[in-house]
Amino acid sequence: MSTPILEVNDLKKHFPIRAGFFGGTTGYVYAVDGVSFSIAKGETLSLVGESGCGKSTVGKAILRLFDITAGQVVLDGQRIDDMPYGTLRPMRRRMQVVFQDPFSSLNPRMRVRDLLAEPIRNFGLAKDSADLERRVGDLMDRVRLPRDAVNRWPHEFSGGQRQRICIARALAAEPDLIICDEAVSALDVSVKAQIVNLLQDLQKELGLAMLFISHDLAIVEHMTHRVAVMYLGKIVEVAPKRQLFAAPKHPYTEALLSAVPVPEPGAARERIILKGDVPSPIKPPKGCRFHTRCPYAFDRCRQDEPQLRQTEDGHFAACHLHDLPAADNPLAGARGAAVIAHH
Ligand code: SF4
Repeated sequence: MSTPILEVNDLKKHFPIRAGFFGGTTGYVYAVDGVSFSIAKGETLSLVGESGCGKSTVGKAILRLFDITAGQVVLDGQRIDDMPYGTLRPMRRRMQVVFQDPFSSLNPRMRVRDLLAEPIRNFGLAKDSADLERRVGDLMDRVRLPRDAVNRWPHEFSGGQRQRICIARALAAEPDLIICDEAVSALDVSVKAQIVNLLQDLQKELGLAMLFISHDLAIVEHMTHRVAVMYLGKIVEVAPKRQLFAAPKHPYTEALLSAVPVPEPGAARERIILKGDVPSPIKPPKGCRFHTRCPYAFDRCRQDEPQLRQTEDGHFAACHLHDLPAADNPLAGARGAAVIAHH
């Protein structure tokens, strides 16, 4: 893998719970509790998991939308989690975000031209007004919107078109990394696919790195290089896409994958229905955080917390099953490979 553009080391974000407005801290929400990963230049990493697992908090922590509790965030070799806000500005330009809701992300009182010109001006990227106009036109081309639409207002566009404008705004700053936080979740199915294709094309054309945060494994399957699966504030599995979809090494990933539709007629994965709800991040279970819902949990799981470790080349999982003999490990081998032969 080439040099990482982003490194996240043992990131923690614990939100204090206060008793009343002026009250003291009565506990913490362990939203992110020791998360590490890196993204190479030009790579897409997808961070997936159910809502409340901490994935969006990871994105916001990288963007310095709040201070982190512990750990490090390193952008292109420079630590940014402890950088004073005054010196953070040039680094901010290098990582841009596209949020879920294109309706609230755009100022309704600005025409598209101004929405796109704003970041270019803010970061001093245009040489003169002709250059500014050229850049705005280029951005419209990039996101496949007609150039003459720059004179229109956000409300004149559909949801998918507005998300294209949000993407163009993110690109206007000439970032190295784009964080897409549930960027297609609010869109209709067909529009979702178009935006995913657009992001995929842009990623290739511009050599961008992307952190794609999503609850939907089916969506990330088409656009990612690697996948990191989060459960209750921790990453439980990281692997290249093909490996993860062909042979998940964590029971939680296996359950998530079982819900992803298989396109081949006649092929089917057995649906694994997890029992119970995700436990509260205020009081995560002892041992493996997934043991209250895991179909394979055994005694050790209730005591020892499994660490993320390599099960095969580039494939990491945090599960005690991999310490058992292969014959006793239901996740040993390439189960499911038959049904994902199209990948
Ligand atoms: Fe399940 Fe135990 Fe593995 Fe946790 S460590 S995922 S409870 S088998």
